[in-house]
Amino acid sequence: MLSLSTDRSLPRVPRLTTALPGPRARTVIERDRAVTSPSYTRGYPLVAARGEGCMLEDVDGNVFLDLTAGIAVTATGHAHPQVVQAIQEQAARLLHMSGTDFYYEPMADLAESLAARAPFPVVAGAPRARVFFSNSGAESNEGALKLARYYTGRQQVVAFLGAFHGRTFGAMSLTGSKAVQRKGFGPLVPGISHIPYGTHAALDHLEQRLFATVLPPEEVAAIVVEPIQGEGGYIVPEDGFHARIRQICDRHGILMVVDEVQAGMGRTGRLFAIEHWGVEPDIITLAKGIASGLPLGAILARPHLMSWPPGSHATTFGGNPVACAAANATLVLLEAGLIENAQRMGSLLQAGLAELAVRFARISPPRGKGLMVAVDLLDKNGQPDRELRDHLVDCAFYKGLLLLGCGKAAIRFCPPLVIDADQIRTALDLLRQLAEEVF
Ligand code: PLP
Repeated sequence: MLSLSTDRSLPRVPRLTTALPGPRARTVIERDRAVTSPSYTRGYPLVAARGEGCMLEDVDGNVFLDLTAGIAVTATGHAHPQVVQAIQEQAARLLHMSGTDFYYEPMADLAESLAARAPFPVVAGAPRARVFFSNSGAESNEGALKLARYYTGRQQVVAFLGAFHGRTFGAMSLTGSKAVQRKGFGPLVPGISHIPYGTHAALDHLEQRLFATVLPPEEVAAIVVEPIQGEGGYIVPEDGFHARIRQICDRHGILMVVDEVQAGMGRTGRLFAIEHWGVEPDIITLAKGIASGLPLGAILARPHLMSWPPGSHATTFGGNPVACAAANATLVLLEAGLIENAQRMGSLLQAGLAELAVRFARISPPRGKGLMVAVDLLDKNGQPDRELRDHLVDCAFYKGLLLLGCGKAAIRFCPPLVIDADQIRTALDLLRQLAEEVF
């Protein structure tokens, strides 16, 4: 029997029983801080111990409502029983054998499923996509960049300001999000030009200025774009933006690479976010939600594009059997109702946030699709207010609500896709209380 809900024993509303952070949490934080890399960006002091659905318990027994899903990852909720069972059964059977050199069934199953669902043109008698498995979003984008250069024989790439594609050299070079993510790490991968995201004006600039002056389009291998910009602030592009990128790519033999690492796997109410615009890319990259929390990434490409020969690209761990088993279980759950739930709960969330925006001038109207939603926090002049955002996210923690920021001054809402109407109402109620206290 398929169960979409994962809540079993934790309360379904926040329950705080100690001051935060509690005594155990304080000890863990102290130990962790002494020995882990200072490059991590921890905000509030949450020490997670156990998760069920949308609820998260810390090491002191405090229970939080989680609207972060571990940075948009636990698509099926924390520890969904069907996903856990798939992981346990696969782990007991085969932990690892490297899909680079050998075959195993969970990888073939997952590749078939993804290929059958890829939003690429249907070619009679052939799969719609070929799939390469990696371990993360950065690795998927790294591989997509290599594939685009390899297939086209071209070196230049267009990416977007505000984009986030990961932290390895290729992915970091595509990223245009924050200076701290690049500063001190150069030289980066050459040949990547960034233009503003989401507007026709930016594409005019690309076509009329850059292509005509410094960037011959016949030297461009790919345009790499997020369907909705994630870390950049959950920015939904103007109507026709993606369709126009498709046209530009077609006109000049450029590959359209769509980074669905954050927006994909059902989060926006479609399996792939680009489906909202009816645009068929050439390459799609995935990670985050694909395996509900196990490390897995994927590159989906139209079949003829994967022309690279044996040995040209590979990885020891990518497509690990346990991660693939988790992803196979995740896909079943997404299609059994979670994608649809993301649509319905997303509408409810946006409606509630819109009411808050009417009531509180410091909250912008919401934007987003499905359960990829954000609002900006504004200063008295209506300008983005980063400090206020950080303060609100912090205060929410002390009320038992887990939130994350993104962009300049946005709060993003990217809960597990199992969230229900009561939990959305609880979150909105807590936000209203916070707004009354903070503004
Ligand atoms: N691409 C997008 C759109 C992302 O949001 C992220 C991470 O936030 C990445 C790529 C990088 O993924 P990872 O952190 O798994 O390398």
